[in-house]
Amino acid sequence: MKIAFFNTKAYDRESFTRENEHYHHDISFFEPHLSLQTVNLITDETAVCVFINDCLDAEVLTALKAKGVQLIALRSAGFNHVDLVVADNLGLPVVRVPAYSPYAVAEHAVALLMTLNRRVHRAHNRVREGDFSLHNLMGYDVHGKTVGVIGTGKIGQVFCKIMQGFGCRVVAYDVQPNPECVQAGVEYLPLDELLSISDIISLHCPINESTMHIIDEQALSKMKPTVTLINTSRGKLIDTKAVIQALKAQRIGLLGLDVYEEEEAIFYEDFSSSVIQDDVFSRLLTFPNVLVTCHQAFFTQEAMKKIAGVTLDNISQFETSGVIQNGVKIPN
Ligand code: NAD
Repeated sequence: MKIAFFNTKAYDRESFTRENEHYHHDISFFEPHLSLQTVNLITDETAVCVFINDCLDAEVLTALKAKGVQLIALRSAGFNHVDLVVADNLGLPVVRVPAYSPYAVAEHAVALLMTLNRRVHRAHNRVREGDFSLHNLMGYDVHGKTVGVIGTGKIGQVFCKIMQGFGCRVVAYDVQPNPECVQAGVEYLPLDELLSISDIISLHCPINESTMHIIDEQALSKMKPTVTLINTSRGKLIDTKAVIQALKAQRIGLLGLDVYEEEEAIFYEDFSSSVIQDDVFSRLLTFPNVLVTCHQAFFTQEAMKKIAGVTLDNISQFETSGVIQNGVKIPN
């Protein structure tokens, strides 16, 4: 199939070119994000492949349909950036990569936790400047702590298992408890109880109406003032302004973020020589107990290979038999 790939970086081009040796699609790689302005890059491609920070609103979808596009292939698990109702009305199927490596994301959550806790990022900078002192580098033993996991699907389950390996008590909250987690000794609790007893809290639920700002001012007020809060899931799970107030009041011990509410305007681009216009994000970066990575939890060799393979396979299935493999359905 002729595919227009939007928003591609060198690493996307490498992994998709390598995997495409098995699929033989005709791929055009474009650097710009998909938007109403860039739809015109499409000539005769009948599939588009996009990432989480591309725009797939009603206007863009309508323009894609008018261009003759027949399939939207998301090279991500998340689909909250797609107007699924409009896509459905236009008869534009949307396919995705439902799971690529739960280990990649769960392990990054642990990396944020351990880097923050043992101040590895600060120690690294300090040593490179010839400062070998230990002040402000003291962490805590993770062993024996209570870890609260919100969302115990594929990623949350792996995270629970890793934290049990550290010797933690793992408690969880999920609208649909995972029987395998129960069997492994994870205790399901009401959300408020989890928030109040956990030393470490990690978010692994999707963003939807029920989880939007699940960590708001009220939720933060229930947590221990020493809490370590980790979010590798979606930025909008946390009310960033409320979290900044809690940080200013010293009611959060450590905060590790791989995602941010308004990340679309910032992440994946180099702003090192410009001025960041987002004052809320800039304020977040000033706290010594906050660590931010730019939505890279998925970014491992294994995950990238799987993302490319499943995406190209989804497209091949559609091309050869019209099958919508890994189709995205409109949530109820
Ligand atoms: P999953 O669908 O396997 O699990 C999600 C879990 O959240 C399910 O058990 C579900 O019941 C639960 N849930 C839904 N609504 C809830 C609510 N209101 N309260 C509590 N739990 C609720 O998803 P997954 O593969 O484990 O992925 C989890 C999230 O990780 C994704 O939604 C995505 O936002 C994020 N993610 C981030 C990256 C990254 O690079 N940072 C990569 C992949 C996925």
